[in-house]
Amino acid sequence: MRLFDCCCGNTLYFDNTLCTACGRKVGWCAACHGVQALEPEGDHWRCTACAAELLLCANYASEEVCNRTVLPGGAALCDCCELNATVPDMNVAGNREKWARLEAAKRRLIFALDRLGLPHARDGVVPLSFAFMGDPEGEGLWRAAGEAERVYTGHAEGLITINIREADPAEREQIRVDMGEAHRTLIGHFRHEIGHYYWDLLVRDDPALLEGFVALFGDPQDPPYGVALERHYAEGPPADWAERHVSAYASMHPWEDWAETWALYLDIASVLDTAVSLGLMSGAVLGDLPDMLARYRRMGRALNELNREMGLLDFAPAVISGPVEEKLAFVHRVVSGAGRGGFLDNGAAL
Ligand SMILES: [Zn+2]
Ligand SMILES: [Zn+2]
Ligand SMILES: [Zn+2]
Ligand SMILES: [Zn+2]
Repeated sequence: MRLFDCCCGNTLYFDNTLCTACGRKVGWCAACHGVQALEPEGDHWRCTACAAELLLCANYASEEVCNRTVLPGGAALCDCCELNATVPDMNVAGNREKWARLEAAKRRLIFALDRLGLPHARDGVVPLSFAFMGDPEGEGLWRAAGEAERVYTGHAEGLITINIREADPAEREQIRVDMGEAHRTLIGHFRHEIGHYYWDLLVRDDPALLEGFVALFGDPQDPPYGVALERHYAEGPPADWAERHVSAYASMHPWEDWAETWALYLDIASVLDTAVSLGLMSGAVLGDLPDMLARYRRMGRALNELNREMGLLDFAPAVISGPVEEKLAFVHRVVSGAGRGGFLDNGAAL
């Protein structure tokens, strides 16, 4: 993520809704694509950077879970919020905060996809949409809920479902510890699930890419997904999973291997983009994969040590083995082939 400037000279951050120095309202401008200070003008707002006339996204104006704007005469919801198929029940205490955290992570995801020039649309070839849903309410009820009632975080035909329990930091940390995961974050969930979306959109129907996929990740029909899932939860991952996979979960099935590898690729691309934007690193954001990995490892080593100094989880916990590097190179090839109009094309800032 890059930083932005208020017209008063203060630094603005991606999630800001207010400038802490001058008190101006702040939002993502639908016209100049940046976080900008907004001036009130009659019944609308004006961008202080590009002078465009703007309205607040309906989820910003009435729900305060968004910080984007829309152009007058267009849709009431911004480019991120319009992807929502189901949003949390606002009658349940705490759901507004959870929804706001989910939207913040989703905006960060969409920003990265736009930076990479990757296609995503509600009316695309594979229509993208999101459902943020909770389990049945009541103390401990979700544990007793039947299979059909439970909300599973996952992807199906372009619909990404996230259980809003994941937006509760204490619950999420408990699940992370229970599952023995190095990280469990909202942005991580989005990066994983969008990987499944791009497999459907970019790989599934492309014979050459599908052949490359099977060679590296394995045949997704053998064993079928359901069989692999049952086996994973009954037997656990193979002891030597780390030699071939980025995570234990990735060893479950080729589709999960792909989604986990894709998520790591988005981690790497986003970290390098941020590092370059902040002036911590020079050069192009994305070059060839070995160069990207060398720079990510350098950054990861430093940030791991800094995090350990503060008693925090490792910043970059994944050990990238040779086979994982080959899989990342395949993801890089898919992204490079599909990315249009992002920095892969022209190196320019969005
Ligand atoms: Zn300001
Ligand atoms: Zn603007
Ligand atoms: Zn919005
Ligand atoms: Zn998955």
